[in-house]
Amino acid sequence: MSMSQDPCARPQLLHPDDAVPMLLQQVIPLYETETVPLTEALGRILAEDLCSSIELPPFNNSGMDGYAYRFADLLAKGKLTVIGKSFAGHPYTGEYQAGSCIRIMTGATVPNGYDTVQMQEYAEVNGDQVTLEPCSEQWENVRLRGGEMMVGAKVLTSGTEIRAAEMGIIATIGISHLRVFRRARVAFFSTGDELRPVGSELAPGQIYDSNRYSIKGLLIKAGVEWIDLGVIKDDPEAIRQAFREAAARADMVLTSGGVSVGEADFTKQVLDEEGKITFWKLAMKPGKPFAMGKIGEAIFCGLPGNPVSSMVTFYKLVLPLLRKLQGHNAVTPLQIKAVLTSAIRKKPGRVEYQRGILNHNIDGTLQVSTTGSQDSSQLSSMHLANCFIVLEQQQGNTAAGELVTVEPFNSVLC
Ligand code: AMP
Ligand code: MG
Repeated sequence: MSMSQDPCARPQLLHPDDAVPMLLQQVIPLYETETVPLTEALGRILAEDLCSSIELPPFNNSGMDGYAYRFADLLAKGKLTVIGKSFAGHPYTGEYQAGSCIRIMTGATVPNGYDTVQMQEYAEVNGDQVTLEPCSEQWENVRLRGGEMMVGAKVLTSGTEIRAAEMGIIATIGISHLRVFRRARVAFFSTGDELRPVGSELAPGQIYDSNRYSIKGLLIKAGVEWIDLGVIKDDPEAIRQAFREAAARADMVLTSGGVSVGEADFTKQVLDEEGKITFWKLAMKPGKPFAMGKIGEAIFCGLPGNPVSSMVTFYKLVLPLLRKLQGHNAVTPLQIKAVLTSAIRKKPGRVEYQRGILNHNIDGTLQVSTTGSQDSSQLSSMHLANCFIVLEQQQGNTAAGELVTVEPFNSVLC
């Protein structure tokens, strides 16, 4: 076999970008919704379009601290008489008078009859007389009623994730409770006779179960309800029990380990009896083995056991499914180009998601380096990275100085 080709690559392997739409076809969104108070809505997915029942701003208000006057009253520099004040929350309630002005603060109501605000920096004050530099146009420094939105304007659409900005936008239009999709329930367990939980002693040949912790972190960041079913032995009966319990309680069952050749026998044997399973052969590295299927009503996703592979396959393959399940609008990952700072070795054959550190040099040019060892058993690469360096299937070695495609991590990995 030629060493120039990735030995794990096969002609029938599927590009992950082609696999994701096929995996997505098997997911039906959870249409159940619930009403939550705005204070608890962060991270939830909106299940309704939100329209404004008020105009924004609700009244003409000042964009500056200064003096409100009628534009036509002052076409050249001149004096006006201060007849009142309008402060935020304390509007001027009197009538307009010709040749007058109102002391006004930012956000305060511009009273009826007045249409322009001059900044206080352009005013000379002498008792109740103010000499003002005129503004160059009517309505200067006035935020017009309805200028941001009119009654009935659609503010947010169903499927939007509520982040900090959306929390504020919803509050701006006075909504205290909203409909969101219910969170997906995801039950997960690790499989492997070699795995021990943290806090216990290791016997020879044993390692700590780390995937359950990284997966739990990913699930929490993805905004789901998680059910941790622990470590399950490589034993068909134990796996069967775990699958039954998981499927009874969850919308998705997620496992780590036991989907590579040989071991897959257990998972396959059990799922052939209890549900259905497909082994996806993907042209991606890390993470070639990935299984998906159904157990009862629940979706099953089987991640490979190698710690980096399990995180990468979760991110690239499972996260889009969870988003769809939870009613989230589809998002296309941002990909940019950056200059590679040190050479990368790669054999053509599979798409590689090498872990990278993206930053910029002194003139602002984006540059990226790998995190070092790309061994899929070493989680330090995921710890150090802030992006994937995406190397396409047919790409081989890449020299320093070349432009490469970079996919910055989203909030689930950051
Ligand atoms: P598997 O996919 O079960 O064949 O596992 C592949 C590799 O990942 C083996 O070296 C396992 O020991 C390791 N591995 C599997 N599950 C875990 C886990 N939960 N935590 C850490 N390493 C694991
Ligand atoms: Mg295993």
